[in-house]
Amino acid sequence: MHTGSYINGQWYHPKSERLVRNINPADTTDVLAEFPAATAEDVQLAINGAQAAFRDWKRTPGPERGRVVWRAADIARRRADEIARALTREEGKIFKEAKGEVLKGISLLEYYAGEGFRMHGKTLPSEARDTFTYTIRRPLGVVGLIAPWNFPWAIPVWKSAPAIVAGNSVVFKPAELTPATASLMAEIYEEAGLPPGVFNMVVGSGSVVGEAIVNSPAIRAVSFTGSNEVGGALYVKAAARGAKVTCEMGGKNAVIVMPDADLDKAAVAIHGGAFGSTGQRCTATSRVIAMPAVKEALLERLVEQAKKIKVGPGLDESVDMGPAVDEKQWKTDLDYIELGTREGARLVLGGKRPEHLSSGYFVEPTIFDNVSPHMRIFREEIFGPILSVSTAKSLEEALQFANSVEYGLTTSIFTQNLDWVMNFVEEVETGMVHVNEPTIGGEAQLPFGGTKATGVGEREMAEEGLNFFTELKTVFINYSGKAERLMIR
Ligand code: NAD
Repeated sequence: MHTGSYINGQWYHPKSERLVRNINPADTTDVLAEFPAATAEDVQLAINGAQAAFRDWKRTPGPERGRVVWRAADIARRRADEIARALTREEGKIFKEAKGEVLKGISLLEYYAGEGFRMHGKTLPSEARDTFTYTIRRPLGVVGLIAPWNFPWAIPVWKSAPAIVAGNSVVFKPAELTPATASLMAEIYEEAGLPPGVFNMVVGSGSVVGEAIVNSPAIRAVSFTGSNEVGGALYVKAAARGAKVTCEMGGKNAVIVMPDADLDKAAVAIHGGAFGSTGQRCTATSRVIAMPAVKEALLERLVEQAKKIKVGPGLDESVDMGPAVDEKQWKTDLDYIELGTREGARLVLGGKRPEHLSSGYFVEPTIFDNVSPHMRIFREEIFGPILSVSTAKSLEEALQFANSVEYGLTTSIFTQNLDWVMNFVEEVETGMVHVNEPTIGGEAQLPFGGTKATGVGEREMAEEGLNFFTELKTVFINYSGKAERLMIR
């Protein structure tokens, strides 16, 4: 694995003294690599390379740009196990989940490769005689991509593939916790034949590399995924200088369980949503709002399943749940567990480091019952394997509780009642809604993202994800010279 930044088609070692240490959270003695942290000057080098590459890349036909991305998909498929292993070692999720993430990224590469053949504009009739009017989509220029650590492969793919296929050049900053997966991504784009400078990857801190990207007037758009704290500040700065910005941020996702729900199915879906990827998903299920008639039976099933989870290092095939990503997140998880108990919720399961694991950032799958909507564990994003269970007397009350938080990413309902389903879909304040499904998951061709404090800007993935990296040009062609355009319009 290369351990530098990838700038203008070269592996580049910043001169700075600071090293980004890439550590396995399941075993902190396992250091994957040390990456020299890039400086603002290094970011400028990447921007210069990207600007130079843009001139030719934007004139490269869309299908040809798509083919490069398709080749990247093929290479990633061949190297899928290698990427997944690096991902598990640096992020902690179990190998099966890491492999799933890699495959999802490959679907996204394939989907966007095909978009190179489309890039639709519109043809519309003109009010003027003998005039042909239409729109075309054009790339923006150099765009900045800033990603979190929790999906270090899929998220950078769903940002970079549409940006590249649309004809932009990219300066990508991975999270400092997960540079290994990012380095493999740069290798793959290089091997796929992407011209130098079209994809640049700069490893370093948010306050140096991230800020340099956000503040550079050469960066025409910023696509950010991460916390509200960082995203909120970044949005204001980038938008103030006229850049296009999209920010996908935190979530606090609920599953509503109605009296007619299939409880076995609901329990399996909640279990996967809450404890999959150690709860470190923006779409993780962190709240259950159940009707009183089914709450106890559901809770029993949830506890029974969660008790069977084997916690441990993600490369051990018998393990079901890996560690928190680092010490900070691990402490956050334990602090919220303590807070939940102090707030008066009933700790039903878990709550501490598993006894058989004396090192690594492991937390037991944790379930709280009797959680009321005013409690902080109900309202705030924890980002760990901690599930809150509450009751509501009606769908109306469940929706009121579900909507009472600031976030708006995803929600699910379990019911067979069509009236409840339709009311739920209409009233719930999230960008994605599921019926009889987990809160997690997305597909390349479907828009992904949230409303309220979760998301501002364009949805990601799908056609919308590509549109973000383009702007429209409206073309008026008066082909006969006879038309008279009304000047007063
Ligand atoms: P984070 O905000 O700490 O970091 C995200 C990225 O921003 C990192 O690359 C970081 O280095 C960079 N950064 C930090 N300070 C910066 C600055 N001043 N300027 C520019 N960049 C800066 O988030 P995280 O801890 O990596 O990720 C977890 C968060 O991401 C959670 O809140 C989670 O819900 C969210 N998330 C959201 C989605 C979604 O689609 N809504 C998906 C995944 C994760």
